[in-house]
Amino acid sequence: MRRCEKCRRALPQGSIYYRLNISLLQGFDGVLDQTDGTSIKDLIARINEQTAGVPESLLEEEVHREFSFILCSRCKEKYCANPLDLPLNGNSVPKKLSDLQE
Ligand SMILES: [Zn+2]
Repeated sequence: MRRCEKCRRALPQGSIYYRLNISLLQGFDGVLDQTDGTSIKDLIARINEQTAGVPESLLEEEVHREFSFILCSRCKEKYCANPLDLPLNGNSVPKKLSDLQE
């Protein structure tokens, strides 16, 4: 049986579920710091040196990753309310009751 991948709740046939697809892409603004006198040629040589022997799949993960999850309605609502898990109103949400007593 299909289950929510966050809370593990069972999602019987015919129930509504959500597919969360996350695509994480590396950004680059095109600006190279050449203030230390490093030329593009030196930079490329340094990158080649640093990545020599590293499997291509690992290098690809550095620039692009895909995630796909099945969520129940409740977990979808929680995710949409705060997709980056940011602190709410400057205060973080306590994870357990004992956190409130500090
Ligand atoms: Zn769930």
